[in-house]
Amino acid sequence: MILAKRAGREHSAADLTAFLEAYVARDIPDYQVSAWLMAVCWRGMTDVETAALTTAMANSGDLLDLSDLPNTVDKHSTGGVGDKTTLVLAPLLAAMGGTVAKMSGRGLGHTGGTVDKLESIPGFRSSLSEEEFLVQARSVGVVVTGQSKDLAPADGLLYALRDATGTVESLPLIASSIMSKKLAGGAHAMVLDVKVGSGAFMKTVDEARALAEAMVAIGRHAGREVRAVLSGMAQPLGHMVGNALEVDEAVRCLRGEGPKDLLELSLTLASEVLTAAGLPGEREQLAAAISSGRAYEKLEEWVAAQGGEVSALGRLERAPDQWQLKAQRSGVLARVDALPIGRAAGVLGGGRARKDDAIDMGVGVELHAKVGQPVTAGDTLATLYHRGGRGLEQAQALLTEALVVADQAEPPPLVIAEGIGR
Ligand code: URA
Repeated sequence: MILAKRAGREHSAADLTAFLEAYVARDIPDYQVSAWLMAVCWRGMTDVETAALTTAMANSGDLLDLSDLPNTVDKHSTGGVGDKTTLVLAPLLAAMGGTVAKMSGRGLGHTGGTVDKLESIPGFRSSLSEEEFLVQARSVGVVVTGQSKDLAPADGLLYALRDATGTVESLPLIASSIMSKKLAGGAHAMVLDVKVGSGAFMKTVDEARALAEAMVAIGRHAGREVRAVLSGMAQPLGHMVGNALEVDEAVRCLRGEGPKDLLELSLTLASEVLTAAGLPGEREQLAAAISSGRAYEKLEEWVAAQGGEVSALGRLERAPDQWQLKAQRSGVLARVDALPIGRAAGVLGGGRARKDDAIDMGVGVELHAKVGQPVTAGDTLATLYHRGGRGLEQAQALLTEALVVADQAEPPPLVIAEGIGR
């Protein structure tokens, strides 16, 4: 396999399956798989190979069978800063007749994970048995848990190796990694939110579009309805970055008081996946599900079903200490760089550097303005929520570097492309 890929040859589906099976059984050592991964980075893979690799990875563990549930829909984001759309989308989709039975990731590095955010709600249980998972999916229409280790285990092993061998950035490897988990997750229709910009894996629109198209092709090959959207991650989504802060912002959005960009992206993603599933997904219908309170009621029903304290929604505990970044001059906010802001939330204790680090739910960053907004010298641009100064100095430096005021600036685009795969 190493020599064939080094020479640029195409692997057969049978070879890829046997190779992964042997690796998961630990019959092939990491150093050989690492050499193969590096060859894939340089030589690439054809669409057929990428689809075969994805199927082999999905089949390396359990496959969730959701076929008894109506209108199963799922969503995946390639990872951003302040991206709490799943928290808005899941109840909205359920309110529109979809079933969201979703296993979601934890955060690693500068991007947050949905399950960590949900765990900032007191009592919320993110580990359920398979039976509890399926029963709740049927009765409530929404269930979100942490990802089972038995789902696409080949991806878990390969990802750890890629992380340590400089082989993460490869289109076929990223596409197969994401899609293997989505295929094993069992939903029939899904929307992929491919992020573009400084806070994202894909730094350019062309790279992001190529990744989106590759993932749509894999899904289609596997008989699923997949749509993709490219969205901007030059600045964080919404105003809040940090676990509890983000849940409260999503709650406000479902109560009709959320930031415009979060609402806009949520409606775009919802519309794509609902129409892919053959359900009504007109923007007016979605907006009505929010303004009537139906989507918010679904959020409460979902949180209660997983043991979460509904009365805490919208007023989750924040870290007690604050520090504010003030504008040094008047002008227009020209840059709110997502990557250092994500890192700032991380160093305050809101993220983890290693997989089993504990995280502080109440810390984070509140951004008081978005790119393109006029500001006056002395205005508060951002607030850091910290606990007793932990990580504060580093977070202050990151934030000061991230926010720039200039004479002029245009807001960056939010939805860059939609309907990919339609
Ligand atoms: N997210 C994944 O799940 N896998 C990758 O390879 C990159 C992002």
